[in-house]
Amino acid sequence: MQRRTKIVATLGPATDDPKVLDKIIEAGVDVVRLNFSHGNADQHRERAEKVRNRARAHGRQVGVLVDLQGPKIRIGEFIDGEVELNEGDLFILDAALDESQGTKERVGIAYKELVNDVSRGDTLLLDDGRMEMWVEEVKGAEIHCQVKTGGTLSNRKGINRQGGGLSAQALTDKDREDIKVAAEIQADYLAVSFPRNGEDIEQARRLLRDAGGHGGIVAKIERSEALHEVENIIAASDVIMIARGDLGVEIGDAALPPVQKNLIKTAREMNRVVITATQMMESMIQNQIPTRAEVFDVANAVFDGTDAVMLSAETAAGAYPDKAIAAMDRICRVAEQQPVSIRSDHRINTAFGRIDEAIAMSCMYVANHLDVKAIAALTESGSTPLWMSRISSAIPIYAMTRHVATRRKVTLYRGVIPVSFDITTTDVATANKEIIDELKRRGVVRDGDLVVITKGDLAGIHGGTNSIKIVEVSDDLLPKGVDV
Ligand code: PGA
Ligand code: MN
Repeated sequence: MQRRTKIVATLGPATDDPKVLDKIIEAGVDVVRLNFSHGNADQHRERAEKVRNRARAHGRQVGVLVDLQGPKIRIGEFIDGEVELNEGDLFILDAALDESQGTKERVGIAYKELVNDVSRGDTLLLDDGRMEMWVEEVKGAEIHCQVKTGGTLSNRKGINRQGGGLSAQALTDKDREDIKVAAEIQADYLAVSFPRNGEDIEQARRLLRDAGGHGGIVAKIERSEALHEVENIIAASDVIMIARGDLGVEIGDAALPPVQKNLIKTAREMNRVVITATQMMESMIQNQIPTRAEVFDVANAVFDGTDAVMLSAETAAGAYPDKAIAAMDRICRVAEQQPVSIRSDHRINTAFGRIDEAIAMSCMYVANHLDVKAIAALTESGSTPLWMSRISSAIPIYAMTRHVATRRKVTLYRGVIPVSFDITTTDVATANKEIIDELKRRGVVRDGDLVVITKGDLAGIHGGTNSIKIVEVSDDLLPKGVDV
C-alpha cells in the first residue's frame, strides 16, 4: 500500500551529502523545502537541480517548495558570538547599535520599526520562546528590557511579541528578489512567511506570476493576527502551513492543538491543502528514534486530516535525516488505516458548483462504497484529484497527466500519486485499456479488480472532466465498462 500522507523535508547542510540525498529519496520524501532564511540563491538553485536529478534517477516525482524568509525580526550579532543572560538582568535592544556589536548589555536589531511596535509591559520572546524579556520602557532607539527567562543568546536569534501585533510587511525586499529565484527554478510551491491577510498572499502570487513562476502559494499561518483573517488567507492561497514554531510563540503553546485541528478542518472544507509543520520529530535531530510524544503528534496530525507532515532541522541539519523520514512513514501508514482516516461525511449536505467537481465528489462516493482498488483521474491542472483528496478514503488516487508541473504539484495532496500519462496522444477507443495497463504495470490492480476512471469527452481540456467510468480489470482488449 502506498502511503497517503505526504512528507515534506527541509534540505540543508545534512542533505548536501549525495548519499544522504539518495537515502531521503529512497525513504520516501514527497516534497523538499528550500528554506530561504538560510543560504544563498546559488545554493538553493543547486539543491533544487540535484534533488530533481536524483528523483528522476529513482523514477520518483519530488516537489520543490521555496520558503521565503519573510519579516522575521532578529537581533544582530554579538562581538563574542553569544552572551549569557540571567533572570533579572537588564538588556537593551538597540536599533541605533551597529548590528555586529552586541554585548552582554545590548544588541542591535535589523528591523528599526520595532521601537514603534512595542511598549512598556509587553513580553518579547527570543530564540523561539526559549528566552523571555519584559519591556520596561522604550527610549528613542532603545528598548529596555528585564530578562524573565535567561539562557544563552547567540547571533541573529528571532524576536516575537507575545500576542502578535508587530507591523512588519509580509514581503521584504529580500523576499521580492527570492521570488524571482523561485520562478527561475520553477518551484512547485512558494511559501509566504508571516502573511497578515489574503492581500499579502495575492501580492506574492502576482509577483511570482510576473516573474514567470507557476507554483502554488502556501500561506504560513504563524502570526496571531493571521488567525483573525484565516478564511481570507485560506481562500487566497492553494495550501496553508500550520507553522507551529512561530505561531506557538505568539499565541502560547497550549493554544496550538485546537488551532491545528480547526485549521486542518477549515482548509479541507475550503478545498485547500494543509501542511503540519515544526518540531514533529525534533528529538531525531540527535536521536535515531522519535519520542513517544512525537509518534503521537505525527499520528494525530494524520487523524486530524493533514495532507502533509513536515521536517525542518531534523533533515536539514540533523544526524539522521533518512531515519526521521522513515519514522514518519511508518507512523503515517498505520494512522491512515484507522477508521477516522477513512470515513468521510465531508460535504454530504452541500451543493456542487461545477461539473468536474460533481464528478470528483461522485467518484469518491462510488469508490468509498464499492470495493474499488484504485481511482484513475485524468487531469490537466490537478483540480479533479484535489477535490477527490479532500474526501477521507483508503483508496489511492492516481493523477494521470501529461504535465510535469501538475505531477509535481500533486506530490503534496494526501492520497494522490502522480503518473505520467498523455491522454491527448491516446486513441479514445483504447484509452481505458491503456490507463488500466499503466496501473497493472505498477502492480496496483489485477484481473477482477474494480477501477474508477474520471475523464473528459474532449481530452486535454482544463476543467473538462465530465464522466465516471467503473471498469472491471480483465484481459480483454477492451475491458467491460459501465458509464454512469
Ligand atoms: P520557519 O517556519 O521554520 O520558517 O520558522 C515554520 C514555523 O514557524 O513553524
Ligand atoms: Mn516561522
